[in-house]
Formats: sequence, structure tokens, C-alpha cells
Amino acid sequence: QTALLEVKNLKKYFEIRGGLLNRVTGYVKAVDDVSFSVRKGETLGIVGESGCGKSTTGRLILKLLEATEGQIYYNNTEITGLSGERMRKLRRDIQMVFQDPYASLNPRMTVGDLISEPLLVHHLIHAREKEQKVAEILELVGLNASHASRYPHEFSGGQRQRICIARALSLKPELIVADEPVSALDVSVQSQVLNLMQDLQKALHLTYIFISHDLSVVRHLSDRVGVMYLGRMVELGKTDDLFKNPRHPYTQALLSAVPSANPQRKRERIILQGDVPSPANPPKGCVFAPRCPKVMDVCRTERPGMLPLGHEHQAACHLYP
Ligand code: SF4
Ligand code: MG
Repeated sequence: QTALLEVKNLKKYFEIRGGLLNRVTGYVKAVDDVSFSVRKGETLGIVGESGCGKSTTGRLILKLLEATEGQIYYNNTEITGLSGERMRKLRRDIQMVFQDPYASLNPRMTVGDLISEPLLVHHLIHAREKEQKVAEILELVGLNASHASRYPHEFSGGQRQRICIARALSLKPELIVADEPVSALDVSVQSQVLNLMQDLQKALHLTYIFISHDLSVVRHLSDRVGVMYLGRMVELGKTDDLFKNPRHPYTQALLSAVPSANPQRKRERIILQGDVPSPANPPKGCVFAPRCPKVMDVCRTERPGMLPLGHEHQAACHLYP
């Protein structure tokens, strides 16, 4: 299968400024040398705790942020330096769905205007086609034409997220980066929105990057999962392999906290000591070394790279030479 998106050695360092002269005093290494690819039609889940760099990675792919270093290829074209018509096309092909459906919809616009705005901006429809087009898109997400004249505040959280998805879909994207799309919603509504996303993926042949701190949500949706910690990708594999046989000690700790459906396979809960270090001052060797129950001498000096462990499974850990 061909890769729709390929990320190579991606880095995003944010400057820290301080002092009277407001000089650069350091860098927050939000994303630090991350590589992965996403195939057409698949869902790649990216999990990790807040501050691990997963949202920044999403924003870099959408070009809402510029990378400090590294390359992003979309359909085999490097998108880092893109401009003009090719950039405008890319802006249609990759869309984002954000966590907070309250914040991401302009409260003064009707639902019909919110959905048709991207189409009009990109000159993809005439004003007279608007009503028809909006109705089609609303139906796709389980709403209907009667909702078009209403305002975002008239809708529930779940419906608002449907409107955000409708707006993202209006431009017929190929890739959707969804950053915690259901985290702000009631648990009872979450599965409805997730099911909708799965149905839309099948019907419209969409590719997803699904970013979440919620392991069960990611497991449910993803074909493959990448685990991030302190700006690094520490493990990547097929969802089943990764959940059944996590290899990186951080992944093992994360999964041990999730209640198992099968009591026979119950894992002992691994409690990690200490806090995640500051991304402004990450450990020199393995970023997980200060908290790792299996730490060795080499871990404190040498940073492990991603190593293949078997069929499409990789981890960055010195336990696997
Ligand atoms: Fe733990 Fe060492 Fe592996 Fe890092 S490299 S996860 S410190 S065993
Ligand atoms: Mg985030």
C-alpha cells in the first residue's frame, strides 16, 4: 500500500525568551525527531499524555505551524516549501477536526454559512448552489437542511462536533487530522461521533490521523498506533500487536492502567515514579530513563532510535538490541 503521508525526522522547537533583552534562552522541544507514515485509507492513532507533542505533530502536518527541521511528504511531494496553487490544493486535501466544537465554530455564523464558507472561499461552488450543497453535507453527518439556518449555540456538543466534521468534509479532503475530537463530549455521545467518523471513512475513503490521550478510543478506531512521550515516538505498531504485546516500558505502563476486558489476561498495574520532565530540558539519553522501571546505564547516555521488532512493529528502547 502506498503512503499518503510520510513524516521524516520532524522537529518543532519553540524558542524560550527571557531577561531584559528578551533573548532566546532555550528551546521547548515539542516534537523531536519523529518519523512515521500513513497509508491511504487507514487510521493512524497517536496516543500520549498531554504535552507529549501529539497536537503539535498534527498542526505541523496541517501546516498551521512550520517545522524547525525534517520533511513532510504528501502524495510523494514535499509540502514544507509549498506555495501558490499547490498550497491551496493542499489546504483542501488535509482538514482538521479539533477537540473543542464550541471554540472552533464562529457563533455569529449560521450552520449553512459555516459549512459553505470553505467552498465559497475556494471558489468550488456558486452562491446559488449553496443551499443544495449544504443540505447534502448536513445529511452526510446525520443532520438535515432544516439545521442550516440555525446558529451553533442552538446545538448540543455532539451536534456541534458533527457540524465541525461537516465543515471539514465540505472540501472533500483525503486526510483528516482529528485532535481529541470526542474528548470534550459526554461519554454517551462519544461513541456516536466515533461511529459517524468510521462510517464516513468507509463511504468517502478517508484517511485519518486520530490524536488522543484516550487509549480505548484509539484502540477502537485505529489500524496502527504510535505512542509519543516527551516529543518522541517511542513505539509504533498494528493496533492489536501493540495492545496485546506492548514492548516499550512506557507503553507497558500506559496500558497497565487500562482495565482489561479479559480478567485472565490482567496485567499488573505499573505505577511510574516522578513526573514527565520538562521538554525544555529533556534527559540526554532515553527520554523515559528517569522514570523507567527497566532503566540501564546505557539508557542515561545514549538515545535509542526506533528499531524494527517484527511485522510493522517498532520501539525505541535499548532492551531490544
Ligand atoms: Fe527504559 Fe532504557 Fe528502554 Fe528507555 S531505553 S525505555 S530507559 S529500558
Ligand atoms: Mg493536545
